[in-house]
Amino acid sequence: RLTAAASGLTGPGRTSDGYAVKLLANVGSARNVPAADEAHAEGIGLFRTELLFLDRATEPGHGEQVAAYRDVFRAMAGRRVVIRTLDAGADKPLPFLNQEGEPNPALGVRGLRVARQRPEVLTTQLAAIAEARAETGADVWVMAPMVSTVAEASAFAAAVHEAGLPRAGVMIEVPAAALRAADLLRVVDFLSIGTNDLSQYTFAADRMCGPLADLLDPWQPALLQLIGLCGEAGRAAGRPVGVCGEAAADPLLAPVLVGLGVTSLSMSPRALPAVRAALSTHTAEDCRRLAALAVAAPGPAEAREAAG
Ligand code: PEP
Ligand code: MG
Repeated sequence: RLTAAASGLTGPGRTSDGYAVKLLANVGSARNVPAADEAHAEGIGLFRTELLFLDRATEPGHGEQVAAYRDVFRAMAGRRVVIRTLDAGADKPLPFLNQEGEPNPALGVRGLRVARQRPEVLTTQLAAIAEARAETGADVWVMAPMVSTVAEASAFAAAVHEAGLPRAGVMIEVPAAALRAADLLRVVDFLSIGTNDLSQYTFAADRMCGPLADLLDPWQPALLQLIGLCGEAGRAAGRPVGVCGEAAADPLLAPVLVGLGVTSLSMSPRALPAVRAALSTHTAEDCRRLAALAVAAPGPAEAREAAG
């Protein structure tokens, strides 16, 4: 009888010919860690830190932040935890940042852009992450949301290193960043593609707008092409490129993402088993072939038909 690990249901992510693809979980707090463990996540690919900041009039203090980050780092001891700095604004407004009144919040001061006006919010958070890491010895990677330029990435990496943290990365959520992925990888250690926002900004379609769901389909060839640019840049630089948006949770799309050069997939824990199983039935060469078919397709339905 096959054990669960031997049948590809619990072990680390691999293609059928043994190419490793890290399968990671998205979490919002330590309360989500048991589900990640039950799904045999190899680590955390996106720790959204907004939860701690939501619905409050003032910023959480240093000690409170250290405690919240430490709980997740400790639970994941020895494994990778990619923690994202505060992603406020747009669909995640925060009262203490006074962002009301922006006519177009999705295009406003959100994500890392908040640090232009309130740099202390970022430095306080990085100091808390560094302290929590020091207490737990976890493999902590830090990334910023909503980065558009090399200058932003470079300033963020400097702040991360200044805080004593070893690994800085950026999310790819804006087409400009995907187009310049190779340049970004000269100043940061890794990329993580947020397909929810990358779709929104590539198709100029609000991610909350139901009637535009067809434009936000993760099989859109234009989206896949941008992901491919990031994957190629990662391969050339020998640096990790993950996907942590909803697209990573589609088991049919996972081999395509791997074929585009993506080295890790991070998703809600419940999606992990099906993605792990799907990967284990394709060779790395299959993945590259399917990726080429999907990118060459005229639309998402044809891409799914050709590669799904
Ligand atoms: C994304 O944009 O794809 C992402 C993972 O971040 P969030 O959904 O939290 O904006
Ligand atoms: Mg996002």
